[in-house]
Amino acid sequence: MSLTKIVLFYVFTPLSDPEAVRLWQHALAEGCGLKGRVIVSHQGINATLGGEIDDVKRYVRSTRSYAPFRDADIKWSTGTGDDFPRLSVKVRPELVTFHAPDEITVTADGVQGGGEHLTPGRLHRLIEERGDEVVFFDGRNAMEAQIGRFKGAIVPDTDTTRDFIAEIESGRYAELKDRPVVTYCTGGIRCEVLSVLMKNRGFSEVYQLEGGIVRYGESFGNSGLWDGSLYVFDKRMHMEFGEGAESLGRCAECAKPTPLFVNCANEECRKLFLRCAACTESGLHPHCGECVPAGAAGSAITGAEAPSR
Ligand SMILES: [Zn+2]
Ligand SMILES: [Zn+2]
Repeated sequence: MSLTKIVLFYVFTPLSDPEAVRLWQHALAEGCGLKGRVIVSHQGINATLGGEIDDVKRYVRSTRSYAPFRDADIKWSTGTGDDFPRLSVKVRPELVTFHAPDEITVTADGVQGGGEHLTPGRLHRLIEERGDEVVFFDGRNAMEAQIGRFKGAIVPDTDTTRDFIAEIESGRYAELKDRPVVTYCTGGIRCEVLSVLMKNRGFSEVYQLEGGIVRYGESFGNSGLWDGSLYVFDKRMHMEFGEGAESLGRCAECAKPTPLFVNCANEECRKLFLRCAACTESGLHPHCGECVPAGAAGSAITGAEAPSR
């Protein structure tokens, strides 16, 4: 019986020759039969890969044999065996595309000048000490927060990571500049950069959740400060931390709770929106709210509009 695993990790470390690392990582992941996505930059590596458990272990062992990646904090989860369409290994100017490559300094110790890292336990202690003064700041795309987020979190209006700088410079969050702000994202990587950008723009007390929502969920499941489902970037598209998690998302058609995103049927749009399994099965609501004027939403599909999913 085969068991498939997905690994998620990142390392911020200076890489003088990202192209050489890309070639090595591609050959290694391909040789192990893994699929998924690896980004390499002069700032380090960010990878999400899946495959048979023994193959994934082999990949992890080899990756860690390279000294700069030796201490990689690797997050494991169970896959379905069909989680990624292909293997993609690319070199990019930034590990996470905030469009601020020159603002981030990376040394062998990681990103410099970021928010203090909080483990899930230390996060709870901060909240015990400071109470409602503490505010969560979602470091993901707003869409991801539709199905799950920390209690009371502020969700910036972002379609992509590129939108963050304009958001934090907008003045909309000025009252947070003197409060303890805890940024969080899926596995922690986006906060490594976001917390620097926030501190550089006058947010005086910024923390980042170490290991992201993934590690928090492993520690506290559904009984802590996290509500709902976690959006993930593979075919699963969402995961829950144990039984009894109710997704915060609402089906665009019938308004029942659902963690399921589908692509808008408009080929020009393809935006993800929420639609429950039953409504998908009935062929209802193929378009996102922006492509169908209010009132026309939910009209039965004609042949030409059939969802391409
Ligand atoms: Zn529905
Ligand atoms: Zn659309």
